[in-house]
Amino acid sequence: MDSLYILSETESEKMLELLDNSNNIILTCHKSPDGDALGACLGMADFIRNYLQKSCTIAVPDAFPDFLKWMPGQEQIIRYDKHKEEIDKQFAEADLVFSLDYDSPGRVGDMEATFRAYKGHKVLIDHHSDPQANYDVVCHHEDASSTCELVFRILYQLYGLENLSKVSCICLYTGMMTDTGCFAYNSNSSEIYLIISMMLSKKIDKDKIYRNVFYNYSSWAVRLRGYVMYQKLNVFDDLHACYYSLTKDEMQRFHFIKGDAEGLVNVPLAIKGMKLSISLREDDRRENVIWVSIRTIGNFSAQEVAQQFFNGGGHFNASGGHLDCSMDEAVQITRTAIKHFANELKGN
Ligand code: 5GP
Ligand code: MN
Repeated sequence: MDSLYILSETESEKMLELLDNSNNIILTCHKSPDGDALGACLGMADFIRNYLQKSCTIAVPDAFPDFLKWMPGQEQIIRYDKHKEEIDKQFAEADLVFSLDYDSPGRVGDMEATFRAYKGHKVLIDHHSDPQANYDVVCHHEDASSTCELVFRILYQLYGLENLSKVSCICLYTGMMTDTGCFAYNSNSSEIYLIISMMLSKKIDKDKIYRNVFYNYSSWAVRLRGYVMYQKLNVFDDLHACYYSLTKDEMQRFHFIKGDAEGLVNVPLAIKGMKLSISLREDDRRENVIWVSIRTIGNFSAQEVAQQFFNGGGHFNASGGHLDCSMDEAVQITRTAIKHFANELKGN
């Protein structure tokens, strides 16, 4: 069997049957979609529309970062926070819904009720921890680099490389690249590079994709990065841990737009020996909502920190969550969390 094949025979038959028999397909992803969530939706949508010749709606809970607005097909994405009725209508007519890059209905924000009310066929493709709904097919691999990698492997297995388009590959490569920090973590499996090689054979320009995503900030966003690292970073040297906070006022000062803080939480991991980095960011509209991002190195679990202290979850080394409190309180909770794990963080 081909080493990229990821579905069992039963799963692949079921997937083909579902795709063959469905005419109105909806692709959904988690709120605040990232490169992987959007890449998986757009890569899959291009295939469904152009190869399978079926109608396909991409329904996302809310806004996605400006630095992903170059992605092919993104203009057809429908946001639930802006077009609730339209999406509810699509769900009423849908015969197949995909959950891409999330493991529980709670992750689709305000779209949750619509998703839960839908009783038709469902497929989950994800690499988070813990699938929590009933699906006809579950393709769930926590050790995969990204949901985009899984989507590629599924389409490759079911339809063959020759039927995958360059556009699909551009979208799927984007998610693999962003979810692995440009292949710096979660990316030791040799299959990943086999996939990239196949994508390059489709003439994707991976260097350009990198520039589109990472050389796409305003000067304000770059200044904000410098400011946070210089003025706002709190380091616990002995615990190999750090955190920073970003308030609404500061975001306004730096003309913040969605996506400007993306990846910022990874920057302090460059400090020698650092094991834990936590970002606290005020919601730019609502009072007393703090968004939390957590990154860890090695065998210290970010997911555990997120679950125990920040109402969240995610992956072992990359998790997120939120707090419903002031920034001062969030800082106190963060300091308590870091100290709580002191024993695990202390050693080298
Ligand atoms: P980020 O820090 O980039 O927002 O999120 C890091 C990872 O954790 C992503 O894979 C994201 O999907 C996941 N994540 C973020 N927030 C939550 C949350 O509240 N719950 C769960 N289960 N996962 C989250
Ligand atoms: Mn992902």
